[in-house]
Parts: sequence; structure tokens; C-alpha cells
Amino acid sequence: MMDASGSQHPLDDWDDISDSEFLNIPSEEESIESQLPLNIETDGKHPVNFDKPSASSSLHNCSKKALKQEAVKTDDVKGLKRKSLHENSFSPMQRFRKRHLSVTLLCEQTWCEMKSVYNLLKPHIKRKEMQRTEVRIGQEIHLSRELEIQDVVPVDIRTREDGEAVKLLNMLHMIPLLEAGQRVREFPVFGVQEGVFIMGVIDELMYNQKGELVINELKTRRQNSLPSSAQDKVNCFQVGLYKLLFDGLVRGEMKKDHVFSHLKLHSAQILGAGVQAHAKNLGVHATTFEELVETLLITVSCSDLPCIDLLQIEYFHQGSNGPIGTRVAPFDEAQIRGELQGYLSYWTGQREPKGVDIEEAWKCRSCLYEEICEWRKNRFTVSDQQAAHSSSHL
Ligand code: SF4
Repeated sequence: MMDASGSQHPLDDWDDISDSEFLNIPSEEESIESQLPLNIETDGKHPVNFDKPSASSSLHNCSKKALKQEAVKTDDVKGLKRKSLHENSFSPMQRFRKRHLSVTLLCEQTWCEMKSVYNLLKPHIKRKEMQRTEVRIGQEIHLSRELEIQDVVPVDIRTREDGEAVKLLNMLHMIPLLEAGQRVREFPVFGVQEGVFIMGVIDELMYNQKGELVINELKTRRQNSLPSSAQDKVNCFQVGLYKLLFDGLVRGEMKKDHVFSHLKLHSAQILGAGVQAHAKNLGVHATTFEELVETLLITVSCSDLPCIDLLQIEYFHQGSNGPIGTRVAPFDEAQIRGELQGYLSYWTGQREPKGVDIEEAWKCRSCLYEEICEWRKNRFTVSDQQAAHSSSHL
């Protein structure tokens, strides 16, 4: 099995990583790695600290102070006010110049919406997170799993349409393999939900012994234990969202015009020679980007593939290179859609961003934005006032 790579393209829109990771902003935070909490999990695509942290170290506080000073300086010098959290003239989608949202970003939002916004405002901090040892190990484990069943074939790409075409060709290559009962890895999915284009990459798709189509999401962990319930909630949302997107594709809900209009891609763009040659090798006949999109959408919706039957999360220990356990995630479509609607209402400009609830204030103690977070400051001011008010009535 082959896997074409379009990684030469600087802005890989289909990768399940938010665009911010690709911004080349130098980091002055040399000591971030050493002050991050120990409970770390990675899916090889994005690092998320989802476990309840231990108490903050003084080094941690030190780095946060540096971040606070840096934030003030950056705001002054670069006029970051344009991207202020409370600027209402444009929606966050427009302000952050996003044509789509990734499943990764929406999962970060599930943990703390305010943090996902700061990740975009401070991309160098996010980039630093991506360089952490546990994230790198997680990425290596994912890559070695992928290479177990497929090769990487470099394809020369010249345009944005070429880059997206390679991902569509990957899907076209994997669909018949999956129909034949083989397992496939790194399967791209996309769809429009609540008017927003969403993209993701499913780790693994396979049939189990009962003949059910299963999503298997690999999570590598530094700790040899299952995750906290807070993290579990995020992981279940992630696989649930993959199911929504995959099912929408096989049901034929996705239209080609959605791809062109949301992603601002040219339907008539002639595919580059490298992409056309690769398509030919796979038995796909397409000269323009539109022809390829049409082929993909017809192939997936007319295939024998069913909707996803089972959502599974596989936890794997980085240190021992062995399994921790597998969790079957529940799927309640109405609930997932309701959650998604709530998250998207921020991106489409219907409301201001929110931080964590008071019951989850422990998340702030391991958050790099603790010192500058407006939500946290306001929340503590309100709780201090409430405490003062209560004590004055004693
Ligand atoms: S400090 Fe708390 S509320 Fe603010 S971004 Fe971090 S986790 Fe969210």
C-alpha cells in the first residue's frame, strides 16, 4: 500500500494540525519543556495536556512571568490589539483567517476554549509544545505504525490544489482496500457542519470480527495508566466528530462546491504533472481539481462502505512500548451535534470565548497562559468579591 506525501507544501490545509503551527515565529521560551506537567498524552498530531496536574513549580511560574512580559511587549510592538479577544467587527474565523477548522482545534477547545484562542494568538508557544519529547515520541510511534502497512511516495506539488489533490488520491487509494476488508491508516475526513468546513485525519479504520467498521484512535501516553475523565471526554468527542464526518461522506452529504467555496480552491485548476502521474498510477483519471473532487465524492458515496459502527480509543505506553488499554467510546449523535454547535458558535462570531468553569479551575494551574488569561483574572475577581460579600454577612 502506498501513501503519497504532499508535505512539501508550506500550508498543508488538510493536515490535522492547526495552521498556527506553521508560522515561523522565533520562541524566546527556552525552558518551557522542563516546566510542563508530567501527565502528557499525544495522538501524534497534536499535543494536549489533558490530565489533572500536580502543583506548579517555581520554574513554571518563572516562565509564565516571562510569557506575561513577552505578551505585553508583543501587544505593544506588533499591534496585536487587532486580534483582541473582544474585537467584534469580524468573526474569529475571519480574524484568524481560517477557511476551515481542524478536529484538533475543536478538541483543544473542548479542553478550554480560551486556551485554544491563546494558542492562535501565541503560535510560538504552541510550536514549542509540539517540540516536546513526548510529542516527538508519539509522532514517531504513529509514523512507524503507518509505515507498517503503507509506504510514502513523494509527489511534486506546485499549487494549493495539488496539495489537496494528493490527500484526495490517498482516500481514493484506501477506499477499495477498506472495502476489501483491509485496515487503513491516516484516512482524511471532511465535511461541513453548521456552515463551517471541518477536516480531520482518522488514525485507523478496520473491520472487527463481528464485521463492524471501527475507528481506532491511537493515544500514546507518557504515564502507564488510563487518562482522567476530563481527558477521556475530549477523546470521545474527537472520535465522535470523526464519525460525523465519515458518515456524511459515505451518505453523499458533501457537495463538490463546498470544497471550492469554503477552501477557496479553483475548480478549473489543472493538476500538476507529478499529481497527474500519481493519479494515473492509482488508476484515477483526472486532469482538473474539479474532476478529482467529483471522482472522490462519487467513489466514497457509491462505495460499499457503511457508516462507522464502533468508536475505539487505544492507549499505548511510550516508555514500555506496550498497550495500556482500549476504551470503547459512546456515541450520542444529538449530544455531539449539540456540543459542536456550541463550539462553532464562538468561531462564527455569535459569542465571546469562554474559559474553564470554576469546578475545572485546576486546569489553569498547568496552563501556560495562566498569568495573562483574561477569563481567569475576571473569574477570580468575581469569586473574591463574592467571598468578601459572604464574609461581610457573617
Ligand atoms: S488559564 Fe485557565 S481559563 Fe485561561 S486559558 Fe488557561 S486553562 Fe483556560
